[in-house]
Amino acid sequence: MSITCNSIKMPDKNGNLNFSNQAPSQWRDVPQKTIHYAPKEETIMLSGGLTILQDQLIEAALQSMGENYISMPNPNFESFQTGKAYGNRGQCNPTYFTVGNLVKYLQNLRDEKGLSSEEIVKKYVYITAGGCGPCRFGMYITEYKKALRDAGFEGFRITSFEHDKGIFQGDDIDDGILNFTPKFFITLIKAVIIGDIINILGYKMRPYEVEAGSVDAAIERCRNLVSKAFLGKKSLIRTLWQCRTVLKKVKLNRLQPKAKVMVMGEFWAAMTEGDGNYNLHRFLEAEGAECIPQPIINRLMLSLWEAERDVLKRESLQVEGAKKVDFSSVKTRALIKIGKVVIKTHFTLYAKAIGLHHYEIPDMDKLARLSEAYYTLDCEGGEGHLEVAHLIESVKENISHLVISVKPFGCMPSSAVSDGIQSLVTSRFPQANFLAIETSGEGAANFYSRVQMALFKAKQSAKEEFEDLELPDTIPDKIHNYLYQPHNAKAGTAAQLIESLTQ
Ligand code: SF4
Repeated sequence: MSITCNSIKMPDKNGNLNFSNQAPSQWRDVPQKTIHYAPKEETIMLSGGLTILQDQLIEAALQSMGENYISMPNPNFESFQTGKAYGNRGQCNPTYFTVGNLVKYLQNLRDEKGLSSEEIVKKYVYITAGGCGPCRFGMYITEYKKALRDAGFEGFRITSFEHDKGIFQGDDIDDGILNFTPKFFITLIKAVIIGDIINILGYKMRPYEVEAGSVDAAIERCRNLVSKAFLGKKSLIRTLWQCRTVLKKVKLNRLQPKAKVMVMGEFWAAMTEGDGNYNLHRFLEAEGAECIPQPIINRLMLSLWEAERDVLKRESLQVEGAKKVDFSSVKTRALIKIGKVVIKTHFTLYAKAIGLHHYEIPDMDKLARLSEAYYTLDCEGGEGHLEVAHLIESVKENISHLVISVKPFGCMPSSAVSDGIQSLVTSRFPQANFLAIETSGEGAANFYSRVQMALFKAKQSAKEEFEDLELPDTIPDKIHNYLYQPHNAKAGTAAQLIESLTQ
């Protein structure tokens, strides 16, 4: 390819060819001029991009540690358009949403709040998860820097922690800005776990609320209580007991046979609650379904599982002259073990306190065994083998009536798995009701129509499953209490409840 072709970009306006024949220039990560950044005590940290509840809890948790931290609003369609305007071509969909969201936020500070670009660059810093990929994830930070430069914020600081290192970050973290200490990460993990638990309960309860909006109102009250507990350094377990009282007051009618839909796929696209996946969860609920979301804890457990597997593989290599006992890998294994215990213990305690029963943290070894015949466990891009495992698990254990895999436009790992490997899985498990669906930022009508088609079959299955059961003469009140969460071979909530009464 010629040098001229190399530097060609799609024109923003048809017919404007001024960009062609320009000399290509080298990308520089470092700003051209020296910038005197604000001292740490005047620096404001920005982040966000998890579920709305988790972003809010993280804000309270980090502020409780004295950090000057703000969670940005959830990315929306305008963020996506901003990301497209300033980003490189051919990025994956989550890049446009998240990069555009930051640019949009800073533009708002400049244009609505009256801060100058220089002031913003000096005072603000953005924290994100980083990593080496192997997908486009490895390019995120460069993408942020490129878009920020082109939007007039050259030199804006981006700091990252490695998503797969958790509380064990290396020395490359800029501790002049932020101390990524174990305490910092444990506080962060507590907020994420509590957010996961409340979100799971919300998804279990909302489809059955008698009064529209009552579950959201109760969850908002729980969020307030937990945020105040973080800020006031009060017991989180006691606070979650208080949340149990709040949730118990919500009236439910759980004997409605609703299709249960597992939403999985690429981490961000499956988890976000907004335009990033066309508000998929809320759309499904409005269409009469109950969602099984993917909690963030699943991604944390996968990262730990991958880290442990790497250590074991390294240990199995025969290296000439190597020490008999490599203490660095012994230490890493011990830290991974501690990481798992920290996550599991906190999850169990918090879930018990608020009343989430029979919810198991995914067993990563079991999921690996389920998927290894279909997809190599060594491929760590995106969610690796996890998407394959979720589908097989759902079919084998009758977890849902429909599995939707959300794959962002331009996502390399998710496309390979959803379009490629899952075709083999569905041919071996023809009873699977599976929909792999792309999110491109545009094309909502097509997206919704395909979801509705798959949902039709799922609704039929849920109805048949329920109607095959014999209703007892009397239905006890506990059926409508969210704390009653029986677990059996039925998939739908209503069918599970009735089945539990006959056992
Ligand atoms: S997994 Fe896909 S969507 Fe996610 S960062 Fe990688 S390429 Fe992008």
